Amino acid sequence: MKLDRALGLLREVPDFPLPGVVFRDLTPVLADPDALRAVVDALQDRIHPDTQLVAAVESRGFLLGAALGYGWRYGVVPLRKPGKLPSVTHRVSYALEYGEATLELPAGSITPGQHVVVVDDVLATGGTAVAACELVEKAGGVVTGVSVVLEIPGLGGRERLAGHRVDALLTV
Ligand code: 5GP
Repeated sequence: MKLDRALGLLREVPDFPLPGVVFRDLTPVLADPDALRAVVDALQDRIHPDTQLVAAVESRGFLLGAALGYGWRYGVVPLRKPGKLPSVTHRVSYALEYGEATLELPAGSITPGQHVVVVDDVLATGGTAVAACELVEKAGGVVTGVSVVLEIPGLGGRERLAGHRVDALLTV
């Protein structure tokens, strides 16, 4: 029930960032202390038990990833947009639902063989999550899954991630 209430706070913003796109905004969920806790607890409940490290996707993934890391003693690695990191080991470019993007992995952040979960707020086309998994694997990490709050089906995200465990708290 707590989780239902939390997910009920998700806001739909029409025509953002482009006309015709409905943006699912997590801000009201993150701003509510009980909702934030319910969402983070529910993400943790689904994370593979072998997981040692969270790879958190900029930027809302950082908030969820840090909460998971603190709560359950995972390390947290930020996967960042270009130009933010002082030292980069790997870089992957990919197509977005609207536009193109690149993610970078900080140097020295993943030890080969480490078990890593990718965390983000939303799974849409899957381009971001696939790039995140690629970054983890390029560094020698083992992806234990992709955890998101919200999955938008019909855009091919789950299919693009075939072979990876995908956990979403809500599908709209
Ligand atoms: P994808 O790469 O799966 O197409 O898009 C997912 C990425 O774009 C995630 O990093 C997510 O933060 C962002 N994104 C795409 N659509 C939405 C949306 O409707 N709401 C939010 N909050 N993020 C979105």
